[in-house]
Amino acid sequence: MSKVLTTPFATLKLDRYPTDSHPSLQAFDAADEYLLNELAALNPTKNSKILVLNDSFGSLACSLANQFSINSYSDSYLAELALYNNLVQNNIPLSTINFIPSTELLLEQYDVVLIKIPKTLALLEEQLIQLQPHITTNTLILAGAMIKHLSKTANELLEKYIGSVQASLAIKKARLLRVTPTHKKLIKSPYPSCYKVKELNLTLINHANVFCREGLDIGTRVLMPYLTYQPHLINVADLGCGNGILGIIFALNNPQAELMLVDESYMAIASAKENWQQALPNRSATIKVADGLLNQAKNSLDCILCNPPFHQQQVIGDFIAKRMFKQARDCLKPQGELWIVANRHLNYYQLLKKLFTQVTTITQTNKFIVLKAIK
Ligand code: SAM
Repeated sequence: MSKVLTTPFATLKLDRYPTDSHPSLQAFDAADEYLLNELAALNPTKNSKILVLNDSFGSLACSLANQFSINSYSDSYLAELALYNNLVQNNIPLSTINFIPSTELLLEQYDVVLIKIPKTLALLEEQLIQLQPHITTNTLILAGAMIKHLSKTANELLEKYIGSVQASLAIKKARLLRVTPTHKKLIKSPYPSCYKVKELNLTLINHANVFCREGLDIGTRVLMPYLTYQPHLINVADLGCGNGILGIIFALNNPQAELMLVDESYMAIASAKENWQQALPNRSATIKVADGLLNQAKNSLDCILCNPPFHQQQVIGDFIAKRMFKQARDCLKPQGELWIVANRHLNYYQLLKKLFTQVTTITQTNKFIVLKAIK
């Protein structure tokens, strides 16, 4: 359901993306409203160059599009789709906004920077490092978040890379941080970082926003031994591939398989491409940013591997996993196999039973369960 956002800049009908995943939640929060109201009060000159970081569903960029030159910088393909849908819904030309994936370089100098503090602070750190050469001491910088999502570390990162921080009073449980840029020494980014998977004798590269950037997920580790040679599986997808670990192991053990790795994070896909190149330099694969299997042909895959996500941005829940399971069922061939690893308490067994012909528990630990669902 569309919700209306009214600020001094515009009145807009906005939707989350995916639209059907969480109908009770709206596409903007009090921190977005606070950022826009504060910016209006500061009266930026018309045609100011504005950079928006981590706009969840496009509410900031869409609000400002008609009056300013807007670049929107984000790691999320779902956020990018939300932005485009909301532009269309509000009759704002797509050309008014330049979307820059977080894996691309910033090119311009900005008069104003609006930052939505992301869930992953390594992403914030990387973004601030990239931002440094593109601001001056005159750039107006406002960062915003809901107080429950705002940590001391975010404050420290802003101070470290940009300048002194002044916190605002809370409004509707949101807070703004006004950052005054000072000349800072440019620091070499610590990202991407690496860790070694001993069993595979493989070093995995992880860009800042990658899931489990500092070490292999315990769930992934539980599924790994079951990705053995299975000659009947040819067309195989790693759904929500992160750094590509599941698809890469499967490919190493299955020379016949043709792999597709997808993720909604640009940094995940950059990492997966680098890791694939390192592990399987002479083998091709499709590795791409996508909204799950949305554009995959129905009945086209033999097998899908998935360690499902449990949150979209700050919202925790099983809605993305459920959506992925439905996509998986549609894209598998008859008798095709979905392999998942998940926290046991999520009870995906019952959910998969409703969607698939047969569901088998392959293994379980205190915390995790590996399930194989056959279409
Ligand atoms: N497969 C990796 C592993 O085992 O380490 C990562 C698993 S992580 C729990 C889930 C991944 O799903 C994240 O990398 C996240 O970016 C991705 N994701 C979330 N929503 C997605 C969507 N709609 N389409 C594609 N990937 C998505």
